[in-house]
Amino acid sequence: MADTTLMDKLVSLCKRRGFIFQSSEIYGGLGSVWDYGPLGVELKRNVKDRWWNAMVHARDDIEGLDAAILMHPKVWEASGHVAGFTDPLIDCRHCKNRFRADDPRIKGTPGQPDAQCPVCGTRGSLTEPRLFNLMFKTFMGPVEESAAVIYLRPETAQGIYVNYLNVLQGSRQRVPFGIAQIGKAFRNEITPGNFIFRTREFEQMEMQFFVKPGTDAEWFEQWREIRMAWHHSLGLTPAKLRWHQHAGNELAHYARAAYDIEYEFPFGWNEIEGIHNRGDFDLGRHQEYSGKKLEYFDQAANERYLPNVVETSAGADRVTLTILADAYREETVEGETRVVLGFHPALAPIKAAVLPLVKKDGMPELATEVYHGLRRDFPCFYDDSGAIGRRYRRMDEAGTPFCVTIDGETTAERTVTVRHRDSMQQDRVALDQLAPFIRDRIRAANAA
Ligand code: ATP
Repeated sequence: MADTTLMDKLVSLCKRRGFIFQSSEIYGGLGSVWDYGPLGVELKRNVKDRWWNAMVHARDDIEGLDAAILMHPKVWEASGHVAGFTDPLIDCRHCKNRFRADDPRIKGTPGQPDAQCPVCGTRGSLTEPRLFNLMFKTFMGPVEESAAVIYLRPETAQGIYVNYLNVLQGSRQRVPFGIAQIGKAFRNEITPGNFIFRTREFEQMEMQFFVKPGTDAEWFEQWREIRMAWHHSLGLTPAKLRWHQHAGNELAHYARAAYDIEYEFPFGWNEIEGIHNRGDFDLGRHQEYSGKKLEYFDQAANERYLPNVVETSAGADRVTLTILADAYREETVEGETRVVLGFHPALAPIKAAVLPLVKKDGMPELATEVYHGLRRDFPCFYDDSGAIGRRYRRMDEAGTPFCVTIDGETTAERTVTVRHRDSMQQDRVALDQLAPFIRDRIRAANAA
Protein backbone atom coordinates (compact mmCIF):
# COMPACT_ATOMS: atom_id res chain seq x y z
CA MET A 1 0.00 0.00 0.00
CA ALA A 2 1.22 3.49 -0.78
CA ASP A 3 2.77 5.18 2.24
CA THR A 4 2.22 8.85 1.44
CA THR A 5 3.15 9.98 4.96
CA LEU A 6 6.62 8.55 4.56
CA MET A 7 7.08 10.39 1.25
CA ASP A 8 5.88 13.63 2.83
CA LYS A 9 8.34 13.21 5.66
CA LEU A 10 11.15 12.46 3.24
CA VAL A 11 10.37 15.50 1.05
CA SER A 12 10.27 17.73 4.08
CA LEU A 13 13.50 16.31 5.54
CA CYS A 14 15.20 16.76 2.18
CA LYS A 15 14.24 20.41 2.10
CA ARG A 16 15.02 21.11 5.76
CA ARG A 17 18.44 19.52 5.67
CA GLY A 18 19.48 20.83 2.27
CA PHE A 19 19.24 17.68 0.15
CA ILE A 20 16.65 18.69 -2.46
CA PHE A 21 14.65 21.86 -3.18
CA GLN A 22 11.92 22.58 -5.67
CA SER A 23 13.23 24.48 -8.69
CA SER A 24 12.51 28.24 -8.70
CA GLU A 25 10.61 27.93 -5.44
CA ILE A 26 10.44 31.69 -4.76
CA TYR A 27 8.46 32.04 -8.00
CA GLY A 28 6.01 29.33 -7.06
CA GLY A 29 8.14 26.46 -8.33
CA LEU A 30 8.53 24.77 -11.69
CA GLY A 31 6.58 21.54 -12.05
CA SER A 32 8.61 18.38 -11.51
CA VAL A 33 12.00 20.02 -11.68
CA TRP A 34 14.22 19.80 -8.60
CA ASP A 35 17.49 21.30 -7.39
CA TYR A 36 20.04 19.45 -5.29
CA GLY A 37 21.32 21.33 -2.22
CA PRO A 38 24.63 20.89 -0.40
CA LEU A 39 23.91 17.41 0.99
CA GLY A 40 21.92 16.24 -2.05
CA VAL A 41 24.62 17.10 -4.54
CA GLU A 42 27.13 15.05 -2.52
CA LEU A 43 24.75 12.09 -2.25
CA LYS A 44 23.94 12.04 -5.96
CA ARG A 45 27.60 12.55 -6.84
CA ASN A 46 28.48 9.53 -4.69
CA VAL A 47 25.87 7.48 -6.57
CA LYS A 48 27.31 8.54 -9.93
CA ASP A 49 30.91 7.99 -8.81
CA ARG A 50 30.05 4.51 -7.60
CA TRP A 51 28.42 3.70 -10.92
CA TRP A 52 31.34 5.15 -12.88
CA ASN A 53 33.89 3.22 -10.79
CA ALA A 54 32.02 -0.05 -11.24
CA MET A 55 31.28 0.41 -14.93
CA VAL A 56 34.36 2.23 -16.26
CA HIS A 57 37.32 2.24 -13.86
CA ALA A 58 36.96 -1.35 -12.65
CA ARG A 59 36.64 -2.81 -16.17
CA ASP A 60 39.00 -3.10 -19.10
CA ASP A 61 36.22 -3.51 -21.63
CA ILE A 62 34.23 -0.28 -21.06
CA GLU A 63 35.19 3.26 -22.08
CA GLY A 64 33.66 6.50 -20.82
CA LEU A 65 32.01 9.20 -22.92
CA ASP A 66 30.48 12.63 -22.37
CA ALA A 67 28.42 13.50 -25.44
CA ALA A 68 26.62 16.83 -25.88
CA ILE A 69 22.96 17.26 -24.94
CA LEU A 70 22.18 18.86 -28.30
CA MET A 71 22.44 16.52 -31.28
CA HIS A 72 21.68 16.61 -34.99
CA PRO A 73 17.87 16.45 -35.36
CA LYS A 74 18.18 13.44 -37.67
CA VAL A 75 19.46 11.43 -34.70
CA TRP A 76 15.95 11.55 -33.24
CA GLU A 77 14.37 10.52 -36.53
CA ALA A 78 16.70 7.54 -36.71
CA SER A 79 16.11 6.60 -33.08
CA GLY A 80 12.35 6.68 -33.57
CA HIS A 81 11.78 9.44 -31.01
CA VAL A 82 10.30 11.97 -33.47
CA ALA A 83 7.68 9.52 -34.67
CA GLY A 84 7.14 7.33 -31.68
CA PHE A 85 8.06 9.05 -28.41
CA THR A 86 4.52 10.19 -27.83
CA ASP A 87 1.74 9.75 -25.33
CA PRO A 88 -1.95 10.26 -26.18
CA LEU A 89 -3.32 13.07 -24.00
CA ILE A 90 -6.72 14.38 -23.04
CA ASP A 91 -7.38 17.97 -21.92
CA CYS A 92 -10.25 19.27 -19.85
CA ARG A 93 -11.45 22.50 -21.52
CA HIS A 94 -13.04 23.55 -18.25
CA CYS A 95 -10.36 23.14 -15.56
CA LYS A 96 -7.40 22.90 -17.98
CA ASN A 97 -6.09 19.71 -16.40
CA ARG A 98 -4.37 17.21 -18.66
CA PHE A 99 -4.59 13.43 -18.45
CA ARG A 100 -3.05 10.42 -20.09
CA ALA A 101 -5.57 8.64 -22.30
CA ASP A 102 -5.17 5.49 -20.20
CA ASP A 103 -5.99 7.31 -16.95
CA PRO A 104 -8.34 4.88 -15.17
CA ARG A 105 -10.21 7.76 -13.50
CA ILE A 106 -11.72 8.89 -16.81
CA LYS A 107 -15.31 7.69 -17.24
CA GLY A 108 -17.02 7.67 -20.64
CA THR A 109 -15.55 8.40 -24.06
CA PRO A 110 -13.34 11.49 -24.23
CA GLY A 111 -14.54 13.88 -26.95
CA GLN A 112 -18.16 12.79 -26.32
CA PRO A 113 -20.75 14.50 -24.05
CA ASP A 114 -20.86 11.58 -21.61
CA ALA A 115 -17.20 11.81 -20.62
CA GLN A 116 -16.53 13.32 -17.23
CA CYS A 117 -13.44 15.17 -16.05
CA PRO A 118 -11.95 13.29 -13.07
CA VAL A 119 -10.82 16.54 -11.43
CA CYS A 120 -13.60 19.14 -11.86
CA GLY A 121 -16.37 16.69 -12.65
CA THR A 122 -17.60 18.62 -15.71
CA ARG A 123 -19.34 16.49 -18.36
CA GLY A 124 -18.47 16.89 -22.04
CA SER A 125 -15.38 19.01 -21.37
CA LEU A 126 -12.79 16.38 -22.26
CA THR A 127 -11.07 16.57 -25.65
CA GLU A 128 -10.36 13.56 -27.82
CA PRO A 129 -6.93 12.03 -27.18
CA ARG A 130 -4.20 13.96 -28.98
CA LEU A 131 -0.65 12.81 -29.46
CA PHE A 132 1.93 14.68 -27.49
CA ASN A 133 5.65 14.30 -28.08
CA LEU A 134 7.72 14.01 -24.92
CA MET A 135 10.79 15.70 -26.39
CA PHE A 136 11.57 19.32 -25.50
CA LYS A 137 12.07 21.40 -28.62
CA THR A 138 14.18 24.45 -29.06
CA PHE A 139 15.76 26.40 -31.92
CA MET A 140 19.37 26.55 -32.99
CA GLY A 141 20.61 29.84 -34.43
CA PRO A 142 18.86 33.20 -34.55
CA VAL A 143 15.77 32.23 -36.55
CA GLU A 144 12.89 30.45 -34.88
CA GLU A 145 11.73 28.43 -37.85
CA SER A 146 11.01 24.75 -38.35
CA ALA A 147 14.30 24.15 -40.15
CA ALA A 148 16.11 25.28 -37.00
CA VAL A 149 14.30 22.96 -34.56
CA ILE A 150 16.48 20.82 -32.38
CA TYR A 151 15.71 18.76 -29.29
CA LEU A 152 16.98 18.38 -25.78
CA ARG A 153 17.98 14.72 -25.66
CA PRO A 154 15.38 12.46 -23.99
CA GLU A 155 18.06 9.82 -23.31
CA THR A 156 21.84 9.69 -23.35
CA ALA A 157 22.12 6.44 -25.33
CA GLN A 158 22.04 8.03 -28.79
CA GLY A 159 25.25 9.96 -28.05
CA ILE A 160 26.88 6.59 -27.51
CA TYR A 161 25.60 5.01 -30.74
CA VAL A 162 26.70 7.87 -32.97
CA ASN A 163 30.17 7.83 -31.35
CA TYR A 164 30.67 4.09 -31.28
CA LEU A 165 33.13 4.02 -34.18
CA ASN A 166 35.06 7.04 -32.83
CA VAL A 167 35.49 5.33 -29.47
CA LEU A 168 36.38 2.03 -31.09
CA GLN A 169 39.13 3.63 -33.17
CA GLY A 170 40.50 5.85 -30.43
CA SER A 171 40.57 3.28 -27.66
CA ARG A 172 41.72 0.13 -29.51
CA GLN A 173 38.87 -1.81 -27.96
CA ARG A 174 37.49 -4.83 -29.73
CA VAL A 175 33.97 -6.24 -29.69
CA PRO A 176 32.74 -7.17 -27.09
CA PHE A 177 33.16 -3.79 -25.42
CA GLY A 178 31.02 -1.08 -23.91
CA ILE A 179 30.64 2.69 -23.71
CA ALA A 180 29.33 4.32 -20.56
CA GLN A 181 27.97 7.78 -20.05
CA ILE A 182 26.35 9.85 -17.31
CA GLY A 183 24.40 12.91 -18.36
CA LYS A 184 21.25 14.97 -18.33
CA ALA A 185 18.15 13.94 -20.22
CA PHE A 186 14.87 15.82 -20.63
CA ARG A 187 11.33 14.55 -21.06
CA ASN A 188 8.23 16.66 -21.13
CA GLU A 189 6.47 14.08 -18.94
CA ILE A 190 2.72 14.49 -18.72
CA THR A 191 2.19 12.78 -15.45
CA PRO A 192 5.35 13.50 -13.53
CA GLY A 193 5.50 13.24 -9.79
CA ASN A 194 6.53 11.38 -6.70
CA PHE A 195 9.27 13.84 -5.88
CA ILE A 196 12.42 13.05 -7.89
CA PHE A 197 11.05 9.73 -9.19
CA ARG A 198 9.69 11.16 -12.45
CA THR A 199 10.96 14.58 -13.39
CA ARG A 200 11.24 16.59 -16.57
CA GLU A 201 14.99 17.07 -16.25
CA PHE A 202 16.98 14.14 -14.88
CA GLU A 203 20.28 12.33 -15.15
CA GLN A 204 20.85 8.95 -16.69
CA MET A 205 23.69 6.49 -16.19
CA GLU A 206 23.70 4.43 -19.37
CA MET A 207 25.99 1.81 -20.80
CA GLN A 208 25.75 0.22 -24.23
CA PHE A 209 27.63 -3.04 -24.63
CA PHE A 210 28.46 -3.98 -28.23
CA VAL A 211 28.60 -7.72 -28.87
CA LYS A 212 28.84 -10.18 -31.71
CA PRO A 213 25.40 -11.25 -33.01
CA GLY A 214 24.53 -14.59 -31.49
CA THR A 215 26.29 -13.82 -28.19
CA ASP A 216 23.75 -11.18 -27.17
CA ALA A 217 21.52 -13.45 -25.07
CA GLU A 218 24.47 -14.64 -23.01
CA TRP A 219 25.77 -11.08 -22.43
CA PHE A 220 22.27 -9.95 -21.55
CA GLU A 221 22.14 -12.50 -18.73
CA GLN A 222 25.58 -11.44 -17.50
CA TRP A 223 24.59 -7.79 -17.42
CA ARG A 224 21.39 -8.53 -15.56
CA GLU A 225 23.40 -10.22 -12.85
CA ILE A 226 26.04 -7.48 -12.66
CA ARG A 227 23.53 -4.68 -12.46
CA MET A 228 21.38 -6.29 -9.76
CA ALA A 229 24.54 -6.94 -7.72
CA TRP A 230 25.43 -3.25 -8.04
CA HIS A 231 22.11 -2.18 -6.51
CA HIS A 232 22.62 -4.65 -3.67
CA SER A 233 26.09 -3.17 -3.10
CA LEU A 234 24.43 0.16 -2.24
CA GLY A 235 23.14 -1.47 0.93
CA LEU A 236 19.47 -1.45 -0.19
CA THR A 237 17.04 -3.78 1.57
CA PRO A 238 17.25 -6.97 -0.55
CA ALA A 239 13.52 -7.74 -0.20
CA LYS A 240 12.71 -4.37 -1.79
CA LEU A 241 14.51 -5.17 -5.04
CA ARG A 242 13.02 -7.41 -7.71
CA TRP A 243 12.94 -8.14 -11.42
CA HIS A 244 10.13 -7.26 -13.77
CA GLN A 245 10.27 -8.95 -17.15
CA HIS A 246 8.69 -7.08 -20.06
CA ALA A 247 5.98 -9.26 -21.49
CA GLY A 248 5.39 -9.42 -25.24
CA ASN A 249 3.00 -6.45 -25.30
CA GLU A 250 5.34 -4.23 -23.22
CA LEU A 251 8.41 -5.03 -25.27
CA ALA A 252 9.55 -2.39 -27.77
CA HIS A 253 9.19 -3.81 -31.29
CA TYR A 254 12.96 -4.01 -31.81
CA ALA A 255 13.82 -5.38 -28.36
CA ARG A 256 14.65 -9.07 -28.01
CA ALA A 257 14.31 -9.05 -24.23
CA ALA A 258 13.94 -6.48 -21.49
CA TYR A 259 13.94 -6.58 -17.72
CA ASP A 260 13.49 -3.78 -15.23
CA ILE A 261 15.05 -3.70 -11.80
CA GLU A 262 12.29 -2.48 -9.52
CA TYR A 263 12.36 -1.06 -6.01
CA GLU A 264 9.48 -1.00 -3.58
CA PHE A 265 9.06 2.74 -2.98
CA PRO A 266 6.60 4.05 -0.39
CA PHE A 267 4.26 4.57 -3.40
CA GLY A 268 4.70 1.02 -4.71
CA TRP A 269 7.02 -1.08 -6.90
CA ASN A 270 8.60 0.93 -9.69
CA GLU A 271 11.43 0.76 -12.21
CA ILE A 272 14.84 2.11 -11.29
CA GLU A 273 16.87 0.57 -14.11
CA GLY A 274 16.19 -1.11 -17.43
CA ILE A 275 18.36 -3.83 -19.00
CA HIS A 276 17.60 -4.35 -22.67
CA ASN A 277 18.76 -6.61 -25.45
CA ARG A 278 18.30 -4.23 -28.38
CA GLY A 279 19.71 -6.41 -31.17
CA ASP A 280 21.16 -4.34 -34.02
CA PHE A 281 18.22 -1.93 -34.16
CA ASP A 282 20.10 1.22 -33.10
CA LEU A 283 23.25 0.86 -35.16
CA GLY A 284 21.13 -0.36 -38.09
CA ARG A 285 18.93 2.73 -38.00
CA HIS A 286 21.88 5.13 -37.69
CA GLN A 287 23.60 3.37 -40.55
CA GLU A 288 20.46 3.79 -42.65
CA TYR A 289 19.74 7.43 -41.75
CA SER A 290 23.34 8.70 -41.86
CA GLY A 291 24.40 6.68 -44.90
CA LYS A 292 27.65 5.82 -43.03
CA LYS A 293 28.79 2.23 -42.60
CA LEU A 294 28.78 1.36 -38.93
CA GLU A 295 29.90 -2.24 -39.28
CA TYR A 296 32.64 -3.72 -37.19
CA PHE A 297 35.48 -5.61 -38.83
CA ASP A 298 36.50 -8.60 -36.78
CA GLN A 299 40.11 -9.15 -37.82
CA ALA A 300 40.55 -12.48 -36.08
CA ALA A 301 37.52 -14.03 -37.80
CA ASN A 302 37.91 -11.90 -40.94
CA GLU A 303 34.25 -10.95 -40.95
CA ARG A 304 32.13 -7.81 -40.87
CA TYR A 305 28.99 -7.37 -38.88
CA LEU A 306 26.77 -4.85 -37.18
CA PRO A 307 27.20 -5.45 -33.43
CA ASN A 308 24.21 -6.17 -31.22
CA VAL A 309 23.66 -3.98 -28.20
CA VAL A 310 22.91 -4.86 -24.60
CA GLU A 311 21.93 -1.72 -22.74
CA THR A 312 21.86 -0.95 -19.03
CA SER A 313 20.01 2.27 -18.28
CA ALA A 314 19.57 3.68 -14.79
CA GLY A 315 18.41 7.05 -13.51
CA ALA A 316 20.78 8.79 -11.10
CA ASP A 317 17.87 10.66 -9.51
CA ARG A 318 15.75 7.54 -9.13
CA VAL A 319 18.62 5.65 -7.55
CA THR A 320 19.16 8.63 -5.22
CA LEU A 321 15.47 8.51 -4.25
CA THR A 322 15.79 4.77 -3.68
CA ILE A 323 18.70 5.35 -1.33
CA LEU A 324 16.87 8.08 0.57
CA ALA A 325 13.67 6.04 0.93
CA ASP A 326 15.57 2.92 1.97
CA ALA A 327 17.72 4.81 4.48
CA TYR A 328 14.91 6.70 6.26
CA ARG A 329 13.90 5.38 9.64
CA GLU A 330 12.46 6.65 12.89
CA GLU A 331 13.37 5.17 16.25
CA THR A 332 12.39 5.92 19.78
CA VAL A 333 15.39 6.63 21.97
CA GLU A 334 14.88 7.56 25.61
CA GLY A 335 11.31 8.61 24.90
CA GLU A 336 12.23 10.80 21.92
CA THR A 337 11.97 10.16 18.20
CA ARG A 338 15.28 9.85 16.45
CA VAL A 339 15.18 10.30 12.65
CA VAL A 340 18.05 8.57 10.91
CA LEU A 341 19.17 8.34 7.33
CA GLY A 342 21.08 5.08 7.56
CA PHE A 343 23.11 5.53 4.37
CA HIS A 344 25.81 3.10 3.37
CA PRO A 345 28.96 4.93 4.63
CA ALA A 346 30.35 5.16 1.09
CA LEU A 347 27.25 7.07 -0.03
CA ALA A 348 26.86 9.36 2.99
CA PRO A 349 27.34 13.01 1.98
CA ILE A 350 29.31 13.73 5.17
CA LYS A 351 31.47 10.91 6.50
CA ALA A 352 32.36 12.40 9.88
CA ALA A 353 31.31 15.31 12.07
CA VAL A 354 33.77 16.82 14.52
CA LEU A 355 32.17 18.14 17.70
CA PRO A 356 33.87 19.83 20.65
CA LEU A 357 31.97 18.75 23.78
CA VAL A 358 31.91 22.32 25.10
CA LYS A 359 32.97 25.68 23.73
CA LYS A 360 35.85 26.21 26.21
CA ASP A 361 39.01 24.69 27.66
CA GLY A 362 40.70 24.68 24.27
CA MET A 363 38.25 22.09 22.86
CA PRO A 364 37.04 24.16 19.86
CA GLU A 365 40.66 24.86 18.87
CA LEU A 366 41.62 21.22 19.06
CA ALA A 367 38.43 20.16 17.30
CA THR A 368 39.14 22.60 14.47
CA GLU A 369 42.58 21.09 14.09
CA VAL A 370 41.13 17.56 13.97
CA TYR A 371 38.49 18.70 11.49
CA HIS A 372 41.06 20.23 9.13
CA GLY A 373 43.14 17.05 9.35
CA LEU A 374 40.22 14.70 8.65
CA ARG A 375 38.76 16.62 5.75
CA ARG A 376 41.89 15.96 3.75
CA ASP A 377 40.61 12.37 3.61
CA PHE A 378 36.83 12.77 3.34
CA PRO A 379 33.98 15.30 3.53
CA CYS A 380 33.55 16.37 7.16
CA PHE A 381 31.46 18.81 9.13
CA TYR A 382 32.31 20.95 12.15
CA ASP A 383 29.59 21.78 14.64
CA ASP A 384 29.98 23.43 18.04
CA SER A 385 26.49 24.83 18.61
CA GLY A 386 23.96 23.38 21.02
CA ALA A 387 23.87 20.39 23.34
CA ILE A 388 25.89 17.39 22.19
CA GLY A 389 22.77 15.19 22.00
CA ARG A 390 21.10 17.62 19.60
CA ARG A 391 24.21 17.76 17.47
CA TYR A 392 24.21 13.95 17.25
CA ARG A 393 20.56 14.03 16.14
CA ARG A 394 21.31 16.59 13.45
CA MET A 395 24.03 14.35 12.10
CA ASP A 396 21.71 11.30 12.26
CA GLU A 397 19.25 13.18 10.04
CA ALA A 398 22.02 14.03 7.59
CA GLY A 399 23.07 10.37 7.53
CA THR A 400 26.59 11.00 8.89
CA PRO A 401 28.00 7.64 9.97
CA PHE A 402 30.61 8.89 12.48
CA CYS A 403 30.61 11.67 15.06
CA VAL A 404 34.00 12.51 16.58
CA THR A 405 33.76 14.21 19.95
CA ILE A 406 36.61 16.19 21.45
CA ASP A 407 36.35 16.21 25.23
CA GLY A 408 38.35 16.89 28.39
CA GLU A 409 40.52 13.82 27.89
CA THR A 410 41.47 14.61 24.34
CA THR A 411 44.25 17.08 25.20
CA ALA A 412 45.80 15.00 27.93
CA GLU A 413 45.42 11.54 26.41
CA ARG A 414 45.31 12.36 22.69
CA THR A 415 42.13 10.31 22.27
CA VAL A 416 38.62 11.11 20.97
CA THR A 417 35.21 9.48 21.14
CA VAL A 418 33.81 8.09 17.91
CA ARG A 419 30.06 7.63 18.05
CA HIS A 420 28.50 5.28 15.48
CA ARG A 421 25.27 6.50 13.85
CA ASP A 422 23.42 3.18 13.71
CA SER A 423 24.32 1.52 17.02
CA MET A 424 24.96 4.83 18.85
CA GLN A 425 27.85 3.03 20.52
CA GLN A 426 31.03 4.89 21.25
CA ASP A 427 34.67 3.93 20.84
CA ARG A 428 37.70 5.64 22.30
CA VAL A 429 40.21 6.11 19.49
CA ALA A 430 43.74 7.52 19.51
CA LEU A 431 43.93 10.80 17.59
CA ASP A 432 46.68 9.57 15.28
CA GLN A 433 44.53 6.52 14.42
CA LEU A 434 41.34 8.47 13.75
CA ALA A 435 41.52 8.78 9.93
CA PRO A 436 42.48 5.10 9.39
CA PHE A 437 39.77 4.04 11.91
CA ILE A 438 37.07 5.77 9.84
CA ARG A 439 38.57 4.79 6.49
CA ASP A 440 38.74 1.11 7.53
CA ARG A 441 35.08 1.11 8.52
CA ILE A 442 33.99 2.66 5.24
CA ARG A 443 36.09 0.07 3.41
CA ALA A 444 34.66 -2.77 5.50
CA ALA A 445 31.10 -1.62 4.66
CA ASN A 446 32.10 -1.57 1.00
CA ALA A 447 33.33 -5.12 1.13
CA ALA A 448 30.28 -6.40 3.05
P1 ATP B 1 9.18 4.97 -17.05
O1 ATP B 1 8.40 3.80 -17.60
O2 ATP B 1 9.27 5.00 -15.56
O3 ATP B 1 8.83 6.28 -17.67
P2 ATP B 1 11.10 4.37 -19.01
O4 ATP B 1 10.87 2.93 -19.24
O5 ATP B 1 10.58 5.39 -19.95
O6 ATP B 1 10.67 4.74 -17.52
P3 ATP B 1 13.77 4.37 -19.81
O7 ATP B 1 13.51 5.13 -21.02
O8 ATP B 1 14.08 2.90 -19.89
O9 ATP B 1 12.62 4.61 -18.77
O10 ATP B 1 14.92 5.12 -18.98
C1 ATP B 1 15.86 4.44 -18.21
C2 ATP B 1 15.92 4.96 -16.79
O11 ATP B 1 15.96 6.38 -16.78
C3 ATP B 1 14.71 4.60 -15.95
O12 ATP B 1 14.86 3.32 -15.37
C4 ATP B 1 14.74 5.68 -14.90
O13 ATP B 1 15.62 5.33 -13.84
C5 ATP B 1 15.30 6.87 -15.63
N1 ATP B 1 14.20 7.78 -16.04
C6 ATP B 1 13.44 7.71 -17.15
N2 ATP B 1 12.54 8.72 -17.18
C7 ATP B 1 12.74 9.44 -16.05
C8 ATP B 1 12.15 10.62 -15.51
N3 ATP B 1 11.16 11.25 -16.13
N4 ATP B 1 12.61 11.07 -14.32
C9 ATP B 1 13.61 10.45 -13.67
N5 ATP B 1 14.23 9.35 -14.14
C10 ATP B 1 13.81 8.84 -15.30
